[in-house]
Amino acid sequence: MKIYISATLRKFFASTAQIEIPASTPRKALAILLDMYPDAKKILYDEKNSIRSFIRIYINGDNSSIDVLWDSVLPEETEILLLPAIAGGAPENAPVESLITDDRRKAVSFDDSEIERFGKHLMLKEIGVKGQKRIRAAKVVVAGAGALGSPVIQYLAAAGVGTIKVIDFDEVSLSNLQSQVLYGNRDVKRPKVASARDKVKNIDKNIVFEGEKLKLDADNIANQIDGYDLVIDCTDNYKARYLINDACALIGIPLVFGAIYQYEGQVGIFNLNGGPCYRCQFPSPPPAGLIPSCSEGGSISPLPGIIGSIQANEALKLILGIGEHLNGKILTVDSLYLQSRILKVHRNGNCPICGNHPTITQVENFDYEEFCGLKENENAAPIEGFTPEELAKRIDNDDPITIVDVREPHERAILRFPKAIVIPIGQLARRQGELDPNKDVIFVCKEGKRSILAINTLREAGYKGPLYNLKGGIDAMKDLIFSHEGAWL
Ligand SMILES: [Zn+2]
Repeated sequence: MKIYISATLRKFFASTAQIEIPASTPRKALAILLDMYPDAKKILYDEKNSIRSFIRIYINGDNSSIDVLWDSVLPEETEILLLPAIAGGAPENAPVESLITDDRRKAVSFDDSEIERFGKHLMLKEIGVKGQKRIRAAKVVVAGAGALGSPVIQYLAAAGVGTIKVIDFDEVSLSNLQSQVLYGNRDVKRPKVASARDKVKNIDKNIVFEGEKLKLDADNIANQIDGYDLVIDCTDNYKARYLINDACALIGIPLVFGAIYQYEGQVGIFNLNGGPCYRCQFPSPPPAGLIPSCSEGGSISPLPGIIGSIQANEALKLILGIGEHLNGKILTVDSLYLQSRILKVHRNGNCPICGNHPTITQVENFDYEEFCGLKENENAAPIEGFTPEELAKRIDNDDPITIVDVREPHERAILRFPKAIVIPIGQLARRQGELDPNKDVIFVCKEGKRSILAINTLREAGYKGPLYNLKGGIDAMKDLIFSHEGAWL
């Protein structure tokens, strides 16, 4: 059987993308695979030896009958796909209905310059003047004006979407310019919503642009999205993803979802005409820190352009009511090996949001921080941390300490941490003998989050020595490292 490993999981399989395993059943194939890569066991299975809920296993593109197929003898050419959630159906071939009513369409009129502007749409028989009026009448929310938001916002504006609301709390930074093609040098340090407004108005001044410089949370999301036709999720973290999914499902707004990681992207449509929601597919996020976010894991520059353009295209098809779309499906695109697949997503009767007995009926009553593992576990022993200044002092004094760098190789290539040994999180439990329990051990990562996961992992594995976290991670210590470099080398 051929097992295909999603990019986000590959680091646990020695960067293997696909592998042929001679086995009669999927269960046996996976067991052989995990014997080859024992570090991956902990990632795929929980303590009760069940597959973790943020990972979906597809056999030949379907995951609906996994229970039956798991122990079935299947032909050699069977394909198994391990698909995790990434930092993010209606009956097939159901007639697609436009999200925009005829009354709203009829209220739109165009002047000569608009007829010229949208000429290439008017030529398409599926769009024409009627379709273009639906696009003009549409009100779309874009959550996140970063890498995915950049193509989405620009294509919605170019296509003539009448009202575009952009929600983003961030300002443009230099590192954004590698992928966020909405911005240029002159936008650095400006609020993204301000630069997005300029860009949209420059494309088409008749568009109603609504910019909200804020962070979506459970208290404000309903106000922000209620009354709009469609939400496009262009965020980069699990908390926002689940919050947006839940609010859209509860209010009844379709959601076009997109996510990227390194070379791989996912696109899907949720909450449309009784179709599944994001939670149906991924009931819970991966433990905090296990899969680095896009800002930690990186991504190739055009990937958000590919995924965001598909999101914008799906959004236009929903507005127009044409073609076939990704309702109840996820499209995955692997830009490194140029492979794409469409996977089915089934509504989960036990889904806490859209299932038969929903338990989440108001986003205000659900703790998204805790759900995404962003809160410190009150039952766990508290994790003590060093500030960058404290750690610098310990290094200056030549104290007998051990610094462990848990970052990925590409992150270490950007900035080496002085005097640190390197142990990836996946190998910590196995290699704990390399640490001296009589010495203070300080864990460092980019932002000080994965290092907390490292400490918890080591404690769970029974390590008894003192463990500390570098607060704020290497990002917070950069200046100190640069100023000490000579002395510390
Ligand atoms: Zn659901």
